[in-house]
Amino acid sequence: MFDDRSRKYKNQYVLLKPVDIKRYEPFVGKHAIDELRWLAEPLKNKVWSNINSTFVGGGVAEMLQSEVPFARALGIDCRWFVIEGSQSFFSVTKKFHNLLQGLDQGITLEEIFHAYLDTIDENTRNVKVVGHMVTVHDPQPAAIIMNGNVYGHIVWRCHIDTSNASRRIWRFLLPYINQYWGAIFTTEEFIRSPLQIPTYEISPSIDPLREKNKHYTKKEALDILQSLLNENNIDPHRSIVLAVSRFDIHKNQKSIIKSFKLLKDKMKKKKPPQLVIIGNSATDDPEGIKMYEQIKDEAGDDKDIHLLLNVKDNDRVVGSFMTIADCFVHISSKEGFGLVVTEAMWHGTPVIGSKVGGIKKQVVHKHNGFAVEPFDYADIARNMQTLIEDKAMRRELGKNAIEYVGKHFLLPQMLYKELLLMRYYLEIDNKIPPFRINDLTYKEISQALYGRTVWPFSSDDLKKRIEAIIEGFEGLNE
Ligand code: UDP
Repeated sequence: MFDDRSRKYKNQYVLLKPVDIKRYEPFVGKHAIDELRWLAEPLKNKVWSNINSTFVGGGVAEMLQSEVPFARALGIDCRWFVIEGSQSFFSVTKKFHNLLQGLDQGITLEEIFHAYLDTIDENTRNVKVVGHMVTVHDPQPAAIIMNGNVYGHIVWRCHIDTSNASRRIWRFLLPYINQYWGAIFTTEEFIRSPLQIPTYEISPSIDPLREKNKHYTKKEALDILQSLLNENNIDPHRSIVLAVSRFDIHKNQKSIIKSFKLLKDKMKKKKPPQLVIIGNSATDDPEGIKMYEQIKDEAGDDKDIHLLLNVKDNDRVVGSFMTIADCFVHISSKEGFGLVVTEAMWHGTPVIGSKVGGIKKQVVHKHNGFAVEPFDYADIARNMQTLIEDKAMRRELGKNAIEYVGKHFLLPQMLYKELLLMRYYLEIDNKIPPFRINDLTYKEISQALYGRTVWPFSSDDLKKRIEAIIEGFEGLNE
């Protein structure tokens, strides 16, 4: 049922055309775009490779589809490699994903050595990935660093919430991750010790030029949705509570349904609201169908709950629903970031978001939405009702939501940090990026002690710190 368009890109390299980056000026200002051009000047024709595990579905693919054309427009030779794997590979990497997000699941040595490591080997057998910077996204391709076929300043970008990762999986991945030049997390709290590499904080972002993120008027949105609303008996004159995500255990869609049923009870004497859950499955997520069936069971025969699976014209439909909804609900039990939260906010729709992982970075309670506990159905239902009934509040929070996204989570803002990182590793800048999280690592100190400055140490503050440490060591010999 789920389509698998990534297969079309058999063997990995996905080339995307540059965009006209002037088109971003209305969103972030000319100055911000000029600054990006200036930062990118010495990076022209330098190679920045990205490796992930799917071309469609999920936030990482969503971001790369915009990030690569943007970087290319800045003159950087930005490349995107998608690793390939069989069903058993993606079953085991899905287990990694779940275990990293704290869910206890059995995993066998056979799965790790055969399904996982052998697939990584096969992927790198014929393909060399080089880059002045190489970003490896998420756990699926993480072990690729050990195969000797990836070259450059390789950084691992973790998009999921690893704050409570199962010890077993973390201990398996740690030796791989510690080989990287650095690791990027969405928020500091996701970092598990003992990570012996520099760590950085970079938030994901959305692309305001994507069809999904275009600002539609209500009328335009309704026109786009008209046939879909008719086919599914969704009444645009009644309130709509919206959720959009993959069908996945951590997305907690069942709790949305439970809360919605409470809401309907509370609003018995009024026009009944409707719940629309739009979902798809990423090609690297084999659990989608199973979860979808469970969510369907939870919805039962409630005619006001609409589950829309793999909608046609996905981006316009998602954007239009976000435009007409009264509120958006995203109450994951674990969440790396949750791009959908930012997307809905960008459409001016207040979000009821769980106080979990990356959602906490986006939803500011009573300023641009409501922050809730993911299983507090009564509170979630209460907030749904408030947003449905209190138009003035909805408008106020929605306005703040747009502003908040505009300040923090648009593509150029993420690129800014990535360019700084690339400049740092290429020793163009002699300042540690301001978004570095951890202090000096053991590896950095010991490399400095033995005079092998593999890491860019030109930064003055780092130099001073290291000199102080070396003095301390010399003191030991006195
Ligand atoms: N998405 C979509 N259609 C769907 C479900 C999800 O376009 O039916 C998109 C959604 O708009 C977002 C991305 O998939 O851009 C999901 O990213 P997010 O960070 O929210 O979650 P992830 O799937 O990466 O955990």
